[in-house]
Amino acid sequence: MPRPSKEKGFMAYLRELPPDLPVEERVRHYDEFTATWSPEQTRDQSYRCMNCGVPFCQYGCPLGNIIPDFNDLVKDDQWRDALDRLHSTNNFPEFTGRVCPAPCEAACVLGITEPPVTIKLIEREIGDRGWQEGWIRPQPPKKRSGKRVAIVGSGPAGLAAAQQLNRAGHYVTVFERADEPGGLLTYGIPDFKLSKVVVCRRLDQMRAEGVEFRCNVWVGKEIPATRLVEDFDIILLTIGATKSRDLDIPGRDLAGIHLAMEFLCQQNRRVARRPVLGREITARGKNVIILGGGDTGSDCLGTSHRQGAKKVWSFELLPKPPLDRIESNPWPQWPFVLYTSSSHKEGGERDWSVMTKRFSGEDGQVRRLHAVRWEWGPQDENGRRPMVEIPRTDFEIECELVLLALGFVHPEHDIATQLGLELDARGNIRAGADFRTSHDKVFAAGDARRGQSLVVWAIHEGREAAREIDLALRGYSDLPSAASHGYDAVPLETAAG
Ligand SMILES: Cc1cc2nc3c(=O)[nH]c(=O)nc-3n(C[C@H](O)[C@H](O)[C@H](O)COP(=O)(O)OP(=O)(O)OC[C@H]3O[C@@H](n4cnc5c(N)ncnc54)[C@H](O)[C@@H]3O)c2cc1C
Ligand code: SF4
Repeated sequence: MPRPSKEKGFMAYLRELPPDLPVEERVRHYDEFTATWSPEQTRDQSYRCMNCGVPFCQYGCPLGNIIPDFNDLVKDDQWRDALDRLHSTNNFPEFTGRVCPAPCEAACVLGITEPPVTIKLIEREIGDRGWQEGWIRPQPPKKRSGKRVAIVGSGPAGLAAAQQLNRAGHYVTVFERADEPGGLLTYGIPDFKLSKVVVCRRLDQMRAEGVEFRCNVWVGKEIPATRLVEDFDIILLTIGATKSRDLDIPGRDLAGIHLAMEFLCQQNRRVARRPVLGREITARGKNVIILGGGDTGSDCLGTSHRQGAKKVWSFELLPKPPLDRIESNPWPQWPFVLYTSSSHKEGGERDWSVMTKRFSGEDGQVRRLHAVRWEWGPQDENGRRPMVEIPRTDFEIECELVLLALGFVHPEHDIATQLGLELDARGNIRAGADFRTSHDKVFAAGDARRGQSLVVWAIHEGREAAREIDLALRGYSDLPSAASHGYDAVPLETAAG
């Protein structure tokens, strides 16, 4: 079929995504399971971009990715230029092309009347093609500034900042307490969502560019944070929001009840053939209950099925979200609707409005979860509606493994305490729009500054913090910021996270 004009592709092509491996097949391994598109199929999808002139998608993307431009370049078969355009706003399109929830697609203008453009998929295909063709190579700086920056934490925020600052010519040392860099990209997000081969090749590129990674170094314990302040010109804290929310109810101390991260990290280590730390936790042959219905809970679900769980329940405290946008949540905002991940499609039972009251067990091992259903009560004098237990709805479920995926409260505070840093009301490291903390040599970015969020926001924060640090070190900066390509960061409520 001859191609339609570039602006009319949305009338000729339907939104299509590459198929996932069938469930029975994919739960037998930990590999990624989404097929790739051919360049031709990806071009068909890019043709659906109308080049509408008011690209809300770009405002929906926390990085301000110049989406209509890279779509247009793919339409013209200019893949290398598309990659350059993508890299001009995003250091790691192959990460976001896999794990981003794509708030851009929720804001796509075509999405008002038709299914939106498959922006995330096109981004992944451009990134992967860049690697396959050998276009993504180390870009070491031509000149060194002589300035030394220490970055603590090697998640997406730390990595993005490190790459930007190193390319600007500064000596960058990344301190990481784990045995491998990558933060939650390496230890946290399951391999079936993000292959660690994809992470490792970026880390190799960064090493070849001159970034120094010092793993197995716990700043604040093994090296006092004050030492870094003496030894480096600037410190950037990208330590994530790693303090998990726990559940202080009777029976919590029974064996078999674990924080989700212990369970997920162990599986990342098994896949990487690294020794598992601590007592082995496995779902094999067990009745598993996951408390918490977010990303982490969904990752526990997919991992439990792969480990061979007997049965898995996912319980969420909050009520079931609507299937479609409600009136007060219109396009182009992030839709607060029921989210069904690929792991949810693999099985298990989901339930909402479930309040866990206690656990009981035998011989110190958890055997049952006791819960009750609740509803919102009448408004009190402060305008709040309390949670009210519904009489006679209490129930119990037999289980041998409970995973707590209740979110994260804030970063760990050792470093902040050692450096006397101010915290915000939620316990995150307080840093203004210039990413500077209350200590003038210390900056903070990513989840450590904004609270638990998304990979795309972490990359955004890392890039923006890098520019501010470059400015502080040199008095000027050639590093791009989101504002330098005509983009102001979107208000939080218009994008996930
Ligand atoms: C299970 C799970 C699944 C997720 N899935 C998704 C997803 O699909 N899509 C998405 O967009 N987001 C997802 N997220 C959220 C996303 O991973 C985070 O928002 C993002 O990784 C935050 O990046 P960061 O660089 O700020 O911190 P992190 O990635 O948390 O990295 C912080 C790093 O700092 C290190 N560190 C901490 N303290 C010290 C110290 N004192 N000394 C040395 N090193 C230290 C930690 O070991 C860690 O490596 C997920 C989160 C979890 C927990
Ligand atoms: S990073 Fe996320 S929001 Fe931005 S274009 Fe890619 S998929 Fe969309």
